[in-house]
Amino acid sequence: MSGDHHLRPAELTAVERRARALEELLIEKGMVTPEFIDRVVETFSNDLGPMNGAKVVARAWVDPDYKQRLLADATPAIAELGFGGPEGDHMVVVENTPTVHNVVVCTLCSCYPWSVLGLPPNWYKSPPYRARMVREPRALLAEMGCEIPAETEIRVWDSSAEARYLVLPERPVATEGESEEALTSMVTRDAMIGVQR
Ligand code: FE
Repeated sequence: MSGDHHLRPAELTAVERRARALEELLIEKGMVTPEFIDRVVETFSNDLGPMNGAKVVARAWVDPDYKQRLLADATPAIAELGFGGPEGDHMVVVENTPTVHNVVVCTLCSCYPWSVLGLPPNWYKSPPYRARMVREPRALLAEMGCEIPAETEIRVWDSSAEARYLVLPERPVATEGESEEALTSMVTRDAMIGVQR
């Protein structure tokens, strides 16, 4: 999905061309308006950005009971903070530890937890990321600036409509006593995908 309605067809990928044809058809049939589509895109770009996920992570860092609920059944635990809706079902949260690093990919397409991370970055949807993260995660992570120690196990999670993964990063060291709000600002989108420590 792209907010750009003005790209020339030659600049679009096959999927983008199909999406645009569908969009134009829906508009022509009077089923949606261009303003409605722009509003949906804007909502997902601005209001439903990774800040939602960061709030979930920070809450888990400060509240052990919440963390337990989150790891046991993520969808209702995330809903406790008011996040859910389209592409936010069947959430699974996987926890990083000193010995395990988790990373998320969608090998089939680009399944992604919109309700907590907003829209996926372009690289997440790219064929090289999708293929290589499964085949050689350690090498690809290193190329992306995320060095994982050799003794740390890497677990790669393949997202789908049945399970959308969110990584719970390790709480940064020396942050005891930090407010939940301050912790929230330390959580990055990339850490919640697992391409950053
Ligand atoms: Fe997918």
